[in-house]
Amino acid sequence: MRADAPVLTVSDLVKHYRVAGGLFRPDRKVHAVDGISFSIAAGETLGLVGESGCGKSSAARCIVRLVEPTSGQIVLKGQDVAHLPEGRMRPLRRDIQIVFQDPFSSLNPRHRAGAIVAEPLVNFGLAEGGALTHRVEELFDRVGLRRDQMNNFPHEFSGGQRQRLGIARAIALNPALVVCDEPVSALDVSIQAQVINLLEDLQRDLGLAYLFVAHDLAVVEHISHRVAVMYLGKIVEIAPRDVLFTRAAHPYTQALLSVVPVPDPRQKCRRTLVTGEIPSPLAPPSGCRFHTRCPHADAICQSHEPPLLDLGNGQSVACHLHKEALP
Ligand code: SF4
Repeated sequence: MRADAPVLTVSDLVKHYRVAGGLFRPDRKVHAVDGISFSIAAGETLGLVGESGCGKSSAARCIVRLVEPTSGQIVLKGQDVAHLPEGRMRPLRRDIQIVFQDPFSSLNPRHRAGAIVAEPLVNFGLAEGGALTHRVEELFDRVGLRRDQMNNFPHEFSGGQRQRLGIARAIALNPALVVCDEPVSALDVSIQAQVINLLEDLQRDLGLAYLFVAHDLAVVEHISHRVAVMYLGKIVEIAPRDVLFTRAAHPYTQALLSVVPVPDPRQKCRRTLVTGEIPSPLAPPSGCRFHTRCPHADAICQSHEPPLLDLGNGQSVACHLHKEALP
């Protein structure tokens, strides 16, 4: 693998879930993820945003192989892991870890905190005895937990501390990539900032790459280097953070950004109204999937799916009329 090669390259990733039909009804498919592609470099954070049900969490779970992708490639440090059997996937799991939204449900309530953080090190046979205890102490220090908390059970920690515990467990194996699936959305705002700062410090010190899945655009703007926007299983726009937040080219991105509160009262608020419900992923609309809600929709939008076009500044957009939609 080249030194500057991406840590992760996802190509044409698809995840469909089968929904069993009835006596007179055929089986149907939920199009959770429908051909998304992106890459992430070492030390980079890619934010993945979109409304609930857009497929961002399904994509994250495919990438860490918690669910089996339907098709596509997931190249982790030069190796396609999309369809590797679990036996061959297992050693590669050292390089890819996940931090969940709700750390409580992902931490064994009957295990002490020290044992939870030690678990991946024990499973991979990387340390035992005094060396294991020393490494776990280091990890507690690293995430801002006290060493005397190693004997506590998960319910004895606050929400923010439990998320620190989840992060300590995720970095125990020195992974190259951490998938953060809504890691702060269950926390109070003041605690969110502390956890985000911790993730940034760890990235700076350990060179971690993050795929940061979230619906809170203010958090995504703060932590991401680039941002990908998903709508009904597709990436509709991907761009460097500053480009996306100042010159979003896709009407859906513009609509998402226009509802983010602006802290400066002198700044005019340009609100793009999107009406209607997000369509069902069981039957996504033809052409551009956003055409049923887009204020700019034209005839071509209903019949032809727009390709993801490279606009030349690191920004790509899937919209037939992006020139008209640009601010
Ligand atoms: Fe709107 Fe058409 Fe662009 Fe889709 S392709 S976002 S419907 S203008």
